[in-house]
Amino acid sequence: MVRKSIKYGERTIEYSVLYSDRKTLTIIVNPDGSVLVRAPKRVSEKKIEERVQKKSKWIVKHLDFFKKFKPLIPQRQYISGETHLYLGRRYRLKTNIHSEEKVVATRGCLVVHAKNKDPERIKNIVDKWYREKALEHFSKSLNNCFEKFEKMGFSKPSLKIRKMKTRWGSYSTKGNVTLNLELIKKPKECIDYVVMHELCHMKQKNHGDGFYDLLFKVFPEWRGVKEMLEKPE
Ligand SMILES: [Zn+2]
Repeated sequence: MVRKSIKYGERTIEYSVLYSDRKTLTIIVNPDGSVLVRAPKRVSEKKIEERVQKKSKWIVKHLDFFKKFKPLIPQRQYISGETHLYLGRRYRLKTNIHSEEKVVATRGCLVVHAKNKDPERIKNIVDKWYREKALEHFSKSLNNCFEKFEKMGFSKPSLKIRKMKTRWGSYSTKGNVTLNLELIKKPKECIDYVVMHELCHMKQKNHGDGFYDLLFKVFPEWRGVKEMLEKPE
């Protein structure tokens, strides 16, 4: 991969070139703001630069289009001062050089003790902490919520935690409740709501009337909580 750049008015367009066995040259603008040129092996760098220059108006238009959506997907950099969510509250990240690596959530601050302030390292420590906290709070929620179902004669499903792209949770007939790790960033009621929802699937496979009758019975406030859950960050 070759990295190059050209000037377009006031701006600099950076692009990577990937050579392969292909006949034509294409330019791709990715949603993350990177520009990729796929080129046949024999095309000269000069020729590629000319093509990028010629298409620069089109490239900039696409870069600006993707930039508009950027604020919707906050990209964390794991540096002091930015905010991270935990159980529905915002915490300000603070890094602290320390030989024993851990996270302490206290008075609105997420204090990360780390051997150095490398963002990659901080991210790993925070991710590990989120997983530990998720296990703690999700297990507690499952235990509490299950009480209502125990009386109905069900046996308690086991808990799995995963990163899921499109769902907050799922229930498998094998007896597992899987919860999305991201739920740890939401208020506790939201965790309970998703757990209750999945537990209802032990009795009702689909989202029919029977399902909602049961959900109302075990978690009457579910509508408001669902709305809270779906609110963007
Ligand atoms: Zn469902």
